[in-house]
Amino acid sequence: MSNSTSNTHILVFPLPPPGHLIPLLDLTHHLLRYGLTVTIVISTVNLPLLNPLLSSHPSSLHKLLLSDPAPSPSPHPLIAKLTATRQLFDPIVQWFESHPAPPVAIISDFFLGWTNDLATHLGIRRVVFSPSGALGYSIFHKLWRDVLDINALNDDGDENFMLSFPDIPSSPQLPWWQLSETWRSFKKGDPGFESFRKGILGNMTSWGIVFNTFEDLEGDYIDYMKKQMGHDRIWAVGPLLPTKNERDPKGSTGRGGSSVVPPDDLFMWLDQKRDESVVYICFGSRETLDEKEMKTLTVALALSNVDFVLCVHESGSNFIPSGFKDQVGGRGFIFKGWAPQLEILRHKAIGLFITHCGWNSTLEAITSGVTMLTWPMGADQFTNAALVVDQLGVGKRVCDDGSNSVPDSIKLA
Ligand code: UDP
Repeated sequence: MSNSTSNTHILVFPLPPPGHLIPLLDLTHHLLRYGLTVTIVISTVNLPLLNPLLSSHPSSLHKLLLSDPAPSPSPHPLIAKLTATRQLFDPIVQWFESHPAPPVAIISDFFLGWTNDLATHLGIRRVVFSPSGALGYSIFHKLWRDVLDINALNDDGDENFMLSFPDIPSSPQLPWWQLSETWRSFKKGDPGFESFRKGILGNMTSWGIVFNTFEDLEGDYIDYMKKQMGHDRIWAVGPLLPTKNERDPKGSTGRGGSSVVPPDDLFMWLDQKRDESVVYICFGSRETLDEKEMKTLTVALALSNVDFVLCVHESGSNFIPSGFKDQVGGRGFIFKGWAPQLEILRHKAIGLFITHCGWNSTLEAITSGVTMLTWPMGADQFTNAALVVDQLGVGKRVCDDGSNSVPDSIKLA
């Protein structure tokens, strides 16, 4: 522990969904290892996920449990949830004012733009944490900043309208339907949307931004963000993954959740497979395949003769056709619920990953040396897939026609 960092107290404020929470907990782990004192705002339901860090850093990690805010009125469910978090402003101020050694800075998720006002009110620095990559964030920022101008370009709402971003490196282009559903739902004058947009603009006036990415992967986009911010306090601090054998060597204590299958059963099965011979399939913590998509995938897996690990959420598992398990016999290992993804990707038997290209999954695959077959579905996933396939050459497209289309089973096999 260096003297300059000991006793420096930071407030960390993540959002609860796993794709946001997991990497910010990973960053918290790094801060603790550097000797900082951290208080983390956490909801009761996610408390168990903090346990590994609490037991390794009992005196320097503290939790700030605040009651869940009541949903705010907004026609859009995500905007309603995010706007509601602002109700935590006063409780955090009260906590801060009564603390004997309050934090000197706040690191908060990019969706919590209002924490910029909070930091200003408290007289401390706010650092934005981006669980998206720098390319994804560059597009996200531009979309929200220029929402009215961009909407005016396509006022008849043509789904195939190509939107270009000529000043962003590599000049990305996206058809309208690949833009995030939340952004496309923007309603001028709606208080929820307006306050969310204000928060996103607030991110750009924050003291700094940290990205879960690394220079060799996204250096050009980091430089672009520095120009946008008008200063250099933009850092690529990723990949923020625990090192192998650190904390959770077999995924049993649960990075983001507890495995629904005893991890040893899976790893004993994987240990018997040839190197890079097994396909891992998972669409992150939120996306699920519909019946048609699941049928395509399972037909392809049945035809293909490959060994595979298929991870589907409990809610989507009903679409796995009855008889599929018998059909594939010992070739398939199926998780109906949470799987220890990082440890799976790091296993030498895994050679391919069919993925929705969530940013965390993308980084986990790249750093594990696993080739991706991309099947993006929303949010920043189309941009991530383009980066993976067109710029990095570490993946191949299997489907990017959106939810109206599914890949061909025979080609997929
Ligand atoms: N994850 C996991 N087990 C699962 C599903 C997801 O460990 O069964 C983890 C995955 O390793 C990643 C995160 O959850 O760290 C999902 O984040 P990502 O950005 O890939 O996708 P999102 O869930 O945000 O769409």
